[in-house]
Order: sequence, then C-alpha cells, then structure tokens
Amino acid sequence: MKIELLSGDITGLSVDAIVNAANPSLLGGGGVDGAIHRAAGPQLLQECIPLHGCKTGQAKITKGYRLPCSFVIHTVGPIWQGGDYDEATLLAACYRHSFALAQEHGIATIAFPAISTGIYGFPKEAAAQIAVSETRKAAKINGNLTQVIFTCFNDESRLAYEKRLTVDGIINRSHFFQIFF
Ligand code: ADP
Repeated sequence: MKIELLSGDITGLSVDAIVNAANPSLLGGGGVDGAIHRAAGPQLLQECIPLHGCKTGQAKITKGYRLPCSFVIHTVGPIWQGGDYDEATLLAACYRHSFALAQEHGIATIAFPAISTGIYGFPKEAAAQIAVSETRKAAKINGNLTQVIFTCFNDESRLAYEKRLTVDGIINRSHFFQIFF
C-alpha cells in the first residue's frame, strides 16, 4: 500500500473513494463539504437526505455522481474544544469507520482531506498523527487497499503530514508529488 501526499483539491481526484469532512446533517456545508457537493451535483444531496445525518466519529457512504471518484465516504469529525472532550478518539473513529466502509465496498484507492482541521479547529499536527496511525492500522487489516492519499489544501497541512510521515519513516521526500492550484 502506498501513502501519498497531494496538495490540491480533493474533488479532482480519480480514486475509488474520496472522504468528505461532513457536518452531522450530511446536507452540505462550507469547506471541503461544500466543494464536494458543488462538484458532485444535486444528486449527491438527494442521496444524503434519506441517510438522516451522521453522528460524530461515524461514517456513511454514497455514490460520487459527477465527481471522478466512484464513492464519497462522509464522516463527521469532532469540533476541537481544547482536547478534553474525546476529540482524538473521535477523530480516530472517523478514519476507522471510513476505512471499514472502504473495505466493505472493495475500495482500493482512497483520498482523505485533513478532517476537522478547518472550521472545526483540530490542531493540524495532532490530526496528521491520528490520520497516519489509523491508516497504518487499516493497511494491516485490509489487504485490498493499494493507495491512500492525504490531500493538503494549505502549506500548514502539508507540513504537518510531511513531518509525521518522515518521523514514522513511512516515506521520504522523493516519494511526494504535488499538483499546484
Ligand atoms: P472541518 O469542519 O472538518 O474542519 P473543513 O472543510 O473546514 O472541515 O476543513 C477540513 C480540511 O479540508 C481543511 O484542512 C481544509 O483546508 C481542507 N479543504 C477545504 N477545501 C478542500 C478541498 N476542496 N479539497 C481538499 N481539502 C480541502
């Protein structure tokens, strides 16, 4: 399994699934959620309405519609409240449940945004550590996974992942690739 860092817009990626940092209503919102709904078109909202929302730390799956990916996995990250409200456990659960849905649906290639690190305010380095550690666990369980992409929408996010992946010795800089936007 290959882990890649990509700077750019997750909605352009031709992978089996992209993950949406959704809000509990699953009815769209700002940030990456808004971008995914805009790019997927109105049928995505139509599929989301009967799902009746999603709890923090859980995940639900839909088709990708006009997106180049087959599926969108919607997960609801925790709002950062200082760290004493199970934020880390809940963020790990987002990754775990997203990977579980990926396994159920035979998804081999998947891209994540930096869940909770935008409007929800989770510290970027701590979030990257959780993302990488849950990905390593998923890779051990799911032999189907061939590619996990961490999409970085700003330099701060990219640096947080670079630092984590380098510390963990998973990749070195020569394996990074970038799309500029
Ligand atoms: P949350 O509410 O979970 O914090 P946000 O959408 O506000 O969700 O931010 C999550 C992360 O997604 C942030 O790092 C933000 O910069 C990033 N992001 C925003 N738009 C996009 C996009 N189109 N593609 C990839 N990442 C994005």
